[in-house]
Amino acid sequence: MKTVPLFKVTIPDHSYWRSQINCQNACPVHTDARGYVRAIASGDFELAYLIARGPNPLASICGRICGAPCEAACRRSSVDRPIGIRPLKRFAAGHSGPEVWETKGDYFGDWLKERIIPQLCQSRDELLWLIRRSGEPLSRPLKVAIIGSGPAGLACAHDLALLGINPVILEMEPVPAGMLYVGVPEYRLPRDVIRAEVSVIESLGVEIQCGVEVGKDVTFDSLQSEYDATVIAVGAKRSRGLPLPGVQGPGVMGGVDFLRDVALRNPLELGANVVVIGGGNVAYDVGRTVLRQAYFDMARTAVRQPRVHEVHLCCLESLMEMPADDVEIIEGAEEGIALHNSFGPKEIVRDGQGRVTGVTFQKVLRVYDENKKFAPLFDSSSLTTIECDTVLIAVGQSTDLSFIDPARHGVAISERGIPVVEQSTLAGAARGVFFAGDVAHGPGLMIHAIASGKKAARSVYEYLTGQSIEPKTLEFHLELPNYKRETGYERIARIDIPASDPKERVRRQDICVESGYSEPMARTEASRCLDCGVNTIFDSDKCVLCGGCAEVCPTLCLRLVSIENLEQDDGMHRAVESVSVRPGEPISAIIKDEERCIRCACCAQRCPTGAITMERFCFRESWP
Ligand SMILES: Cc1cc2nc3c(=O)[nH]c(=O)nc-3n(C[C@H](O)[C@H](O)[C@H](O)COP(=O)(O)OP(=O)(O)OC[C@H]3O[C@@H](n4cnc5c(N)ncnc54)[C@H](O)[C@@H]3O)c2cc1C
Repeated sequence: MKTVPLFKVTIPDHSYWRSQINCQNACPVHTDARGYVRAIASGDFELAYLIARGPNPLASICGRICGAPCEAACRRSSVDRPIGIRPLKRFAAGHSGPEVWETKGDYFGDWLKERIIPQLCQSRDELLWLIRRSGEPLSRPLKVAIIGSGPAGLACAHDLALLGINPVILEMEPVPAGMLYVGVPEYRLPRDVIRAEVSVIESLGVEIQCGVEVGKDVTFDSLQSEYDATVIAVGAKRSRGLPLPGVQGPGVMGGVDFLRDVALRNPLELGANVVVIGGGNVAYDVGRTVLRQAYFDMARTAVRQPRVHEVHLCCLESLMEMPADDVEIIEGAEEGIALHNSFGPKEIVRDGQGRVTGVTFQKVLRVYDENKKFAPLFDSSSLTTIECDTVLIAVGQSTDLSFIDPARHGVAISERGIPVVEQSTLAGAARGVFFAGDVAHGPGLMIHAIASGKKAARSVYEYLTGQSIEPKTLEFHLELPNYKRETGYERIARIDIPASDPKERVRRQDICVESGYSEPMARTEASRCLDCGVNTIFDSDKCVLCGGCAEVCPTLCLRLVSIENLEQDDGMHRAVESVSVRPGEPISAIIKDEERCIRCACCAQRCPTGAITMERFCFRESWP
């Protein structure tokens, strides 16, 4: 009896297949994380790095500290724990990234340019296009000023340089890289990794002028008249304060100001007992950096004994509500941070001479209301005072755009100090002025800033040349006739990233907490990837509806359902894989729960008629 197909693959919409690759979708620059993870599993570490590097000029830094939205989206979480995508990127970068090259020019000019060849990989195509484009001169030289050398400014400059435009970065700090250098502590991000990636960007012809503050050393007017366009990528570097009695005066400091002083080796006014107010990752960076000052003080001064600092980290949230990552809370506790949850700061207590002697807290009854809005309630009768001599406030950052006069420069800024930005182009209200990074979107992750910088580069290019550089998405399907997974890949537990000994690592601020995966570890961890770019494709012409595929499926993600029951079937996120009609028989469909599929290929191997094939779906952007 012939099976009459209603449709072969019932979801021909490319965006559906694309959306199956969760890691790539979640990455703001659409890194093909699955691609580099699988390349590591197969032992091709150079390919892995090239895939990671394609869309991301700061791939090595991301390998160290990226907030990794890809991991948060990783489908492996539905089995056990997500793939260690970020540490795998670090592993690939440690193999081929600029930090392992002596001459950064060789890395880009002689190696990366040659190796970035078109492959079935979206990400590398973009860089290839940019590299090819960089050979074509523009009709006239174009100069763009970028204010700020954080990840947004650097990414923007990288792409503009490849587009043939001359970017000049103006940076008020004595060193480039923004918060990556003056915020993120050295124990998480070694400075030589930052220097390596910045040097590569400089080797493309980007000029970085450090120690130049716009608004003080040069005016915004002069930039508007001297440059063809301006990109404002000044981040959010101002520590937010708290309106508490006693907050003004010595002994109280902004958390990011403290981190900046440590990073730049400025003299510190730090006592022995420190209260850090805040419950996010930055508060942990602050608290853990304080702990590392004991031995640093000893090295800098004639003090013989380490002046051990006691750190109390106090936040409004309960342990479950805290915004800090679990790893920060765990590692902070290992290092000696005393955590106080549900502590609402009421007053900073000072003695007769104005010295800080403590912070009084009131008990927090709730932080968020029924609508999950921030609306803390306190019990003012339940008070606790923690004795201390220094208070570091890490409750967020804000932007400083005081160098702009909205009326004169035509740049619209809201009452809250946030610039008005056209989100699709990142253009500000004034012609030729663009925003990128935290200043444009509010504080986020470095990968958001990188994506934003790249977007601003394209908008600037279009604004200056009138040429659009929108890519077109191409889709490829590769049949994988002998698709086979590593033995037992579905049972391998996530390999935790090895970390240095807590007692040892607090002795120096440049001892990295994470020591990274060894090669066997990296290959094993990478072999856990479910490879969501691979899909089961059902051919209803061949399907005899025997149900064998559903029987062998180890995760029960396939089911035979009669068409009448299809509508009622819960979870319509499932793909209807095959619908078959036999004259006189009820219509049945095989439905598949994509979330549960582990791409093991058991169904394809079991199918007696070859109706199921394993196919790799790849997406790449074709550049004009
Ligand atoms: C302590 C800390 C730790 C963080 N850790 C992580 C992490 O682990 N992972 C992660 O993904 N993200 C992390 N982030 C967030 C990330 O660092 C930021 O999202 C990112 O740096 C924003 O990039 P940006 O380029 O927009 O701004 P920034 O990095 O802030 O760079 C802006 C630059 O502009 C310069 N500038 C400002 N005003 C002027 C002026 N008037 N003239 C000249 N120059 C000026 C500043 O000096 C600065 O160098 C962290 C942030 C902080 C504060």
